[in-house]
Amino acid sequence: MQVKLYNTLNKQKNDFVPLNGNEVRIYSCGPTVYSYAHIGNFRTYVFMDNLRRVLKYNGYTLKHVMNITDVGHLESDGDEGEDKMEKAAKKEKKSPYEIADFYTKAFFRDMEKLNIDRPEIIAKATEHIPDMLEFAKKIVENGYGYETSTAIYFDVSKLDKYPILSNRNVEDQIAGARVEVDPEKRNPYDFAIWIKAPENHIMKWESPWGLSYPGWHLECSAMSRKYLGEVFDIHTGGVDHIPTHHENEIAQSKGAFGKIPAKVWMHVEFLQVDGGKMSKSLGNVYTISELEEKGIEALAFKLFCYTAHYRTKLNFTFEGAMSSQKALNRLRESYIKHENGNDNIENSLIEEYKNRFLEAINDDLNLPLAMGIVWELARSDTKSKKIANLLAEFDKVLGLDLENSEKYIENQKKVELPAEVLELLEQRKKAREEKNWKLSDDIRDNLKEKGYIVKDTKEGMTIEKI
Ligand code: AMP
Ligand code: ZN
Repeated sequence: MQVKLYNTLNKQKNDFVPLNGNEVRIYSCGPTVYSYAHIGNFRTYVFMDNLRRVLKYNGYTLKHVMNITDVGHLESDGDEGEDKMEKAAKKEKKSPYEIADFYTKAFFRDMEKLNIDRPEIIAKATEHIPDMLEFAKKIVENGYGYETSTAIYFDVSKLDKYPILSNRNVEDQIAGARVEVDPEKRNPYDFAIWIKAPENHIMKWESPWGLSYPGWHLECSAMSRKYLGEVFDIHTGGVDHIPTHHENEIAQSKGAFGKIPAKVWMHVEFLQVDGGKMSKSLGNVYTISELEEKGIEALAFKLFCYTAHYRTKLNFTFEGAMSSQKALNRLRESYIKHENGNDNIENSLIEEYKNRFLEAINDDLNLPLAMGIVWELARSDTKSKKIANLLAEFDKVLGLDLENSEKYIENQKKVELPAEVLELLEQRKKAREEKNWKLSDDIRDNLKEKGYIVKDTKEGMTIEKI
């Protein structure tokens, strides 16, 4: 059955055909490792996992690269502000490399909890400086780059068309541009491909332009080319990447090699919280660990992501996530019942479910529709091993680790916390945020009396039954 994917480039759902036989080459923009990734970021990586699994389910083999941004991503996606890594390093009194190492490990721990299939190649920006430098030189040689006293800029006016991915027109971009950082820029919408390092900058390398470091967009252009070639199949990221990061990646590849680097550009809509933007100032930037503290497993969050198609906004609420946790528990229980069932079900019915599921996932990854089919099957009055096997087969796409259902249910019994204890944990968390250590300690003692030991670790609070 044909896989159809929506392409931001032509704003259409097209039949997907790989460029090179059975192998699909994918590049995904990965995390900037200056702090913990939040659940919004993970919506994008859950999508990435779905894409991988759907393609594999259809018999394709994958060559998939995901980058780790550990240099060059400034505070704005444009050229304003400090490098996020250096800023975090100063704040935490560590080196940018220590920061990167710590948050990269934390990121992959969460990815594992989410049962996200790891891309074949993980590429760190700082380990690819020579590739990026070569790319930047090529851009300059071809007449698309120019030097100012602070950076090497890409001259966007040299391109036949810019932008080509977003609807935004350049005039609007110029009008919307904030105060110029560098008055030497030829056009307000030119962007830095290489940045001259100020005296106190830690991450910097020798280059024809002195000690300097790459601009954020360059790493994805250089590393995708290195591992996947000048033109590959699919490029993924969140919708925020459309107007700047991916637009500029395309500009760079056209400047260096005259080609748009990927055939299909796929973008995930944003996860919102309580109907609005996630932001540190609103205190609603949640991590996977914070969900776990409230009794919501990472896999329940994954299931929550399947309540909306990846191209529509998804509104996160704790009530919604808790419903997904309950739904996941029910799905596991159903799976076990079917596993212990008989074989009394028509093969033709199984085939019908199989086809409907395939049709849903192949229609631009329609996971909400696919889940409807999964629920129908799981709720079947006939309890059959054939259904359990089919659910396990579907789980190759869903990645909910259904085959280990029994283990999860056993573990849950061990750690199920009464509402009163959950409430106390919540109060203690608040007290700690407000630095009310006395109240925090009192609640800990209270919990101890109730038979629970609370510990504070780097990853957050943990609780164990005595
Ligand atoms: P960053 O670590 O900031 O480079 O972002 C990592 C990925 O998460 C990128 O693909 C972003 O587009 C994506 N992303 C950021 N915020 C959200 C959000 N609220 N919902 C979905 N994806 C997001
Ligand atoms: Zn990127």
